[in-house]
Amino acid sequence: MTAPGTLHGVAASSGIAIGRARVLVPPVDVVDRRIARDAVPAEVARLREAVAATDAQLSVLSARLDGEHLHEGHLILEAHRMMLRDDEVVEGARRLIEGDGLAAECAVRRVIDAICARFASIEDAYLRERGADVEAIGERLLRTLLGLPELSSGASADGTIGVGHTLSPIDALHLPRSGLAGFAAEHGGKTSHAAIILQALGIPFVVGVRGLLSAVQPGDTLVVDGSRGEVIVRPDAATLAICEERRSRERARALALKSRVMGPTVTRDGVRIELAANIEAPSEVADALELGAESVGLFRTELLYLDRPELPGEEEQFQDAVAVLVALGGRPATFRTLDVGGEKLPLAITVAGGANPSLGVRAIRFSRRRPDVFRTQMRALYRASAAGPLRIMFPLVSGITELHEARRACAAIADELAGEGMAFTGEVPIGVMIETPSAALTTDHLAGQASFFSIGTNDLIQYTFAADRENEEVEYLYHPLHPALLRLLKSAIDGARSANRPIAVCGDMAGDPAFTWVLVGLGVRSLSMSPRFIPAVRSIIADSTLAEMEAMVAQALSLRSETEVEGLVLEMMSRRFPLVFGTPSVIPA
Ligand code: PEP
Ligand code: MG
Repeated sequence: MTAPGTLHGVAASSGIAIGRARVLVPPVDVVDRRIARDAVPAEVARLREAVAATDAQLSVLSARLDGEHLHEGHLILEAHRMMLRDDEVVEGARRLIEGDGLAAECAVRRVIDAICARFASIEDAYLRERGADVEAIGERLLRTLLGLPELSSGASADGTIGVGHTLSPIDALHLPRSGLAGFAAEHGGKTSHAAIILQALGIPFVVGVRGLLSAVQPGDTLVVDGSRGEVIVRPDAATLAICEERRSRERARALALKSRVMGPTVTRDGVRIELAANIEAPSEVADALELGAESVGLFRTELLYLDRPELPGEEEQFQDAVAVLVALGGRPATFRTLDVGGEKLPLAITVAGGANPSLGVRAIRFSRRRPDVFRTQMRALYRASAAGPLRIMFPLVSGITELHEARRACAAIADELAGEGMAFTGEVPIGVMIETPSAALTTDHLAGQASFFSIGTNDLIQYTFAADRENEEVEYLYHPLHPALLRLLKSAIDGARSANRPIAVCGDMAGDPAFTWVLVGLGVRSLSMSPRFIPAVRSIIADSTLAEMEAMVAQALSLRSETEVEGLVLEMMSRRFPLVFGTPSVIPA
């Protein structure tokens, strides 16, 4: 057993969880077993029954998740059901039972191991991670075959902390049901699919914690601090008391912020700031409105494409967009066109990754390469514009020529729809995400072809510092307050404003109250974020004047290093807003 202490990782979902460690998930142990020749038909029947029973479990869970507004979970489970019924699994196992006389569980284990080995040898990190999904399905099928209980359920897990190598999206969806209060993983990125799910669920999550599995024994007391990116192993009584105190304060703070009055967000000197929501499914609109969102500033459209073997059709995408607009009851929604490639690869799409997938064919570059996929989505979005104020936004635009080309394609699609007599709004605003330095430096030029802009700081930071956002090894380079980034933001905002085009921020910076003064002080008047961050950001704006924000930004722009800017901004924020930022850390390292 190693000494108690603090392990450092990357903060992936904020909040503090305290509980006993539960090491997830030991694989099912399958003992090699052969069957007699005449038992083969019964064994094949046993396999088929287990597949049907597992499918039924998944179907119940999937419907429940859909009903609970966890649409992404529902889609992932539907994809798992398809993989489960895939011939490669079922027929592969049947052949091993009939040909080699293997017991059903041994046949399943062999087939799953072979598929996983193929995934493990794939170079692309995102595709490789899909092996975890196959493994999860295999484990579930084996548990059914062997009559073992589900690991993810059971009251005994209530309030425990999950510890693992990684966290797959499917396990992330199981977390609340299994009673786990937090999760820590040795690997993973803070913008991974699992992190996005845990943020939406409000479950603390720390990734990239080196040495975690060797430092933690099942049953150890753990503190997972998803705000600081720390895991404290077997804290002493004094540390534990401090953490419990901080956890209560964080909870009280969140409640206090949520209960503050709704209505437009205005600074103390009368400047109106729009607060919008980043969402991925129509089912998320209701919560977003409850938390005070005035519109949807970023609808990530990838969800309909991920985790399924075929592409979504025009009608399905049309219905999805209409459902968002209807739920918004007349408030606007900005739909980002498909952003795949890089680390996001739907099953139905193949992209030549190249040596650097994040620098290769992704987002609007993919749309250029696959005009058929782009056309289907654009037709759906244009048609949905008849149902409410809809805007369309292109991700990862690099420059004016690329934008020009995309706009020409839009015009052709609008003509096509008009020719078919389809209803749609004549003037759908088309905007551009500012995610590359080249776009940030030329918003004044892009403005001729764009009705609005929204800065995707997650990618803008990745491309400014040439640091892969999925790789915890270069996480130390993620500095939203670096002078280089401030200059790029200023250039993008000034360029847009000089051309009279609204410019919002929809990257993670928008939802972090530590950056609210910087963004508003630089001239942003619309912030779009994961809905649960809206109350805190609103409380900051309502208690500030634009004058003080601008004064701080002027000083920040004169500083030379990220450390100096961070010192200035973070010190100012925690002094002015103790309710949001709390008091400085007293937890021993
Ligand atoms: C961004 O890059 O900041 C952004 C909002 O897009 P995504 O996180 O989906 O890449
Ligand atoms: Mg992006």
